[in-house]
Amino acid sequence: MPRRTVAVIGAGAAGLVAARELLRVGLHVAVLEKSGRTGGTWAYDPRADDADPLSRDPAAAGAVHGSLYASLRTNLPRQLMGFSDFPMAGRVFAGDARAFPGHREVLAFLDAFADEHGVLAHVRLRTEVLRVHPLGEEQGERWAVAFRGEDGEVAEEVFDAVVVCNGHWTVPFVPKIQGIGNWSGKQMHSHNYRTPEPFQNQNVVTVGMGASGIDIALEISHVAKEVHIASRYSEDRLGKFNLYQNFWIHKEIECIQDDGKVRFAEGSAVPADVILYCTGYHYYFPFIDLDGLTVDDNRVGPLYKNVFPPKYAPNLSFVGLTTKTIIFPSLELESKWVAAVLSGKATLPSQEDMMASVLEHYRRMEEAGRPKRHTHVIMPDWEEHMNWLADQVGEPHLEARSLELLVKALCGTWSLDEGYRDHCEQDDDRDTTALKGLFGLV
Ligand SMILES: Cc1cc2nc3c(=O)[nH]c(=O)nc-3n(C[C@H](O)[C@H](O)[C@H](O)COP(=O)(O)OP(=O)(O)OC[C@H]3O[C@@H](n4cnc5c(N)ncnc54)[C@H](O)[C@@H]3O)c2cc1C
Repeated sequence: MPRRTVAVIGAGAAGLVAARELLRVGLHVAVLEKSGRTGGTWAYDPRADDADPLSRDPAAAGAVHGSLYASLRTNLPRQLMGFSDFPMAGRVFAGDARAFPGHREVLAFLDAFADEHGVLAHVRLRTEVLRVHPLGEEQGERWAVAFRGEDGEVAEEVFDAVVVCNGHWTVPFVPKIQGIGNWSGKQMHSHNYRTPEPFQNQNVVTVGMGASGIDIALEISHVAKEVHIASRYSEDRLGKFNLYQNFWIHKEIECIQDDGKVRFAEGSAVPADVILYCTGYHYYFPFIDLDGLTVDDNRVGPLYKNVFPPKYAPNLSFVGLTTKTIIFPSLELESKWVAAVLSGKATLPSQEDMMASVLEHYRRMEEAGRPKRHTHVIMPDWEEHMNWLADQVGEPHLEARSLELLVKALCGTWSLDEGYRDHCEQDDDRDTTALKGLFGLV
């Protein structure tokens, strides 16, 4: 019997580990990668979309995939950034031995991983997938994949299955702000932030308090006149932030006033030269147009456990959609699950049962007051989610130490202490109770 063939779309961390797992179970794998190298997000790209700093058109020629800034260091310690049998902890790949290494170290780690597991031989670089559509009487028995290859020609190839690993940190989400239409200042999204120099002596409002938002606001504060961070999660820390002399924390932006000042929900208002949105990204699959599979308010669905669309399972799957989780181990577990299902070592529930599970998840979210756009946010159910995946593939459960490290890292980020990465490991006494509450862990 001929070996089953699988197309993996994208050669970032997700595509590389998915390919490794699929190869392990004996499938024939082609990883189609539109850029000129593997590593995805971790291949720092100094280019930014200067002509459109909000990157409103993701299909624009020359659109940049990467969203890393030059100084970026991981927000998780290296113990949480490895794969089970290819750890990052205790090893150095590009000369950066820090607990929270810079992006070059992660890229070198991924390069070494792909090399050691023979994945590189299966990667076709400069190959952009343009369309994926199902063939066969049963929807999705086989899949036609159209792509533009290295030679610029469009071709089509048929595969037994497709695993989508195209990343989701590229297409900016920009919140609508009342009065912004008449505002004459500059707006940009963190997707296009690379270095702080352009903000010299400026009054900057940054929006969002995720890991990148905090990093960027702090970095800019070294050169800017004033930095004002706006966030809906800032309740208990409003006002001047005493660790830094030019740094304020506000509630979310309420509107742009008639006098051009940026007004925040708590009532204060400041003049600003720039509003920098660190507000996350949209899921975007320009090559998929399938009946019954949609992206609605950042909910990709329906998807059974964020991976399999019931109607097209098991031959179409998605790896890496979840957020606010321990990403690399999660990518690995999802990949193992897909590989187990495609090789017949694991089975999925019926289409009806998968659909029922998805609807139950939606119902619970609604009951808990969680917005649709958080469908793929795993926090605070890390443990339950990771252990469920582990059970599908006979892997051990998440170690308690991993959760501890995760919470400490999140607490470090939220402390707004620029040095947290360098003293996080020594900080065993830091009181994390309040933040544990925030993350739903107490
Ligand atoms: C600023 C920032 C900081 C982060 N910090 C951390 C961190 O500290 N720790 C952590 O674990 N994670 C972090 N992440 C998350 C990070 O994205 C993941 O670690 C990981 O890179 C996700 O891998 P991926 O393969 O899913 O996506 P990506 O790395 O984005 O890879 C997707 C790949 O698909 C390719 N592709 C896209 N479309 C097509 C197409 N049509 N055809 C062919 N190829 C295509 C792209 O070129 C790319 O190579 C961070 C992300 C950002 C943006």
